[in-house]
Order: sequence, then C-alpha cells, then structure tokens
Amino acid sequence: MGGYAWVTLATNDAYSLGALVLAHSLRRVGTKYELAVLVTPGVTSMMREKLAAVFSLVQEVNVLDSKDEANLALLARPELGITFTKLHCWRLTQYEKCVFVDADTLVVRNCDELFEREELSAAPDVGWPDCFNSGVFVFKPSQQTFASITAFAAAKGSFDGGDQGLLNMYFNDWARKDISKHLPFIYNMCSTATYSYLPAFKQFGEDVRIIHFIGITKPWLQYFDTLTGIVQPPAGTPHLQPLLQLWWNIFCDKVHPQLSPAMAGLAGALAQMTLGEPRSAEQIALEEHMRKQSWEQGQIDYMGRDSFDNIWKKICETLSLAPSRQPSPPKTTSEDETKSEKKEEAEVAKEANTDLIIQSEGNNEINSPAGTEDSN
Ligand code: UDP
Ligand code: MN
Repeated sequence: MGGYAWVTLATNDAYSLGALVLAHSLRRVGTKYELAVLVTPGVTSMMREKLAAVFSLVQEVNVLDSKDEANLALLARPELGITFTKLHCWRLTQYEKCVFVDADTLVVRNCDELFEREELSAAPDVGWPDCFNSGVFVFKPSQQTFASITAFAAAKGSFDGGDQGLLNMYFNDWARKDISKHLPFIYNMCSTATYSYLPAFKQFGEDVRIIHFIGITKPWLQYFDTLTGIVQPPAGTPHLQPLLQLWWNIFCDKVHPQLSPAMAGLAGALAQMTLGEPRSAEQIALEEHMRKQSWEQGQIDYMGRDSFDNIWKKICETLSLAPSRQPSPPKTTSEDETKSEKKEEAEVAKEANTDLIIQSEGNNEINSPAGTEDSN
C-alpha cells in the first residue's frame, strides 16, 4: 500500500457541493495525488455518483456506527457533533500519507509539497494561534491512531465540542515542539483574515494556496445572482468578494452542469437554476431563500430588493389580501426612523413570506419549498 491523497468529508449534499468545487480546484492546479472523500448516509446516491466522477475514492463512513467500539463510546457524547466524523480519515490506510482539507476550502495554487510534511502539520488558528486550525492538516493513516484518538475523545472530550478542540488536545505539543509542523498561513488562509488584517492580505494575498471559508462565509450560502453570475459577500466583508467569486466560477463551470433535482436540499434546488437567463419560478424561490439567509446574517438590501415597497407588496400577496391596487406604505419621517421601521416591517414580511422561502435546517441543509405544515 502507499500513495498520497487529499481527503475531505461531506455529511450531506450541501457540503458535497463544497467537496466538488474543492476537488475541481485541486485538479485545476494539477495535483499529482489522489482525491478521496468520506461520506455519511446523509449524502444522496445521486450526489455520490457525481463525487465519484472527480474523487478516486468515495468512502462511506458512519456518523455513529454501533458496530464500532470506539464510536460506541462516543455515543455517550452526542454533542461532540458531526465533525468528529472527520476522524475516520485515519482509517484510510490504503494511503501512506494524506492531507485533510475541509469541504469549505478552495485550493488556488498547487501545494503538493504539503506531502513532504509529517503528522500532524497544520496552520495556526486565527482565533487562538497556539491552536492549529483543523481545516487543513497533514496526517498518516493508521488504525492504531484512529483507535487512540477516539479512545482519547471518549475519555477527555473536546474543549470546543468539535474536531478542532479534540485534535489540539490530542496533538498537544504542536504549539511548542517542532516548527516544521507549523504550516504557513497561506496553506489555510481563513477568509475572515482578509478583512481583519487587510494590509497583510494585500502584501501576501498573491501567495495564498488554500482559502478556507470558515464560519458563516460558506460560499454556497452567499447570495448569488444567477443572471449576472456575481456573488455578494457577507455584510462588511467586501474583500471576500473575489475569493467567493472564484468558488462560484468553478461551481458554475464544473459543478452546476452535473447537479440533479434528485439531490437533497440546496444542491437539488441549485440544479433547477439556469445561469445567465431570465429566472424560472424555482429560481426565484431559491434566490429568495439565499436572500433570506443573507438577511439572517445581517445583510439587508434596504435600497434594492428588500426595500419597503417590495416588502409591502410581498405581505399583500402572501396574505392574499392584496386588492387589485396595493395600498401605499405608511408615511414615515426621519431617515433613522424609516430604517428601524423598515427593519420591523421586514420581520413581519419574513413571517408572512411563506410561499417562497425555503426552510433552513441544521447543517446548512435546506428542505423543499415551504408552505408545508411546519413552516413558520
Ligand atoms: N462537515 C460536514 N457536514 C456538516 C458540518 C461539517 O460534512 O454538517 C464537514 C465539512 O467537511 C466541513 C468540516 O466538516 O468543511 C468542518 O466543518 P466547517 O467547515 O463547517 O467548520 P468551520 O471551518 O467553519 O469551523
Ligand atoms: Mn471549514
């Protein structure tokens, strides 16, 4: 056995979109090594087919496998969450060495040199630089290490409830012992750094090899205009636009044509989108959803589509109370007042907007269009 591989993880079809774009980004920069993806039963068979077209290995793993002693122990700690599934990467013993990359990363330049590093090499976390960020790390598959980490997890847990806290506790000498295990930040550039330290991004941004869209900056959750092909970054983060745009360009070029409506949630909805053409009803519904998500993250297009007039129109339509001529919105006085009132009205509109909004659920997956019993 032997060989090197890039490994990622997807537990649902939405994260699989990230995995697909990541895989294409790796192919685009001409990596010499194999691509492997761990999937859980939450990934549809249609999506697995598409993953198999670009990954050389699509390995099903279980989130909580009752036949697995180590995972049984973990069962007592359900809150440790789905990112523990990542630990299964140590079981890929058909490879000699691997680099784990989160599904929300994008490789922008060839970085096959990472395989020269040893376990456990990783870049500092932007929040606490004495910890490594577990979105990109070099590791050596080993059943023994897998057993040891899961036993450790069962005994000690994770200080942050996720894989990062656990792995930092397990590989606890990373901060001090061996500087060669510290990957330069350009191998895991957390997208938030582009605006928290803009001068550094200006200076070194050209050298970036792997972008990591941590937290709410997941590219597939941003508002994307299907007509213009432009993605809108989260509020206050304009510097993210070119990075998000790169993700969407690869998505539109390589991934979108492969999507099927049989896929779950967001992936299935995106499959019904046409690009660069007038919008279909499904597309309008999807874009409404994306906009709602942006709204929940504080991105409100006050002057455009979220303007009071549009909200008012929507309320009237949704409540089926709209007379043939819609009433004009109530008059307001100062600009500030208008803004806060708009916000309140917007809340009402959000509540009433049941026919187009697609409901959000955990894990960033979404269901079919709402208007069903449990919609709010
Ligand atoms: N992941 C997944 N499904 C989930 C959450 C996470 O497949 O519902 C995987 C995916 O590979 C993801 C990684 O676990 O990139 C870590 O989670 P995430 O990237 O959301 O964490 P962050 O980097 O924002 O801390
Ligand atoms: Mn991540």
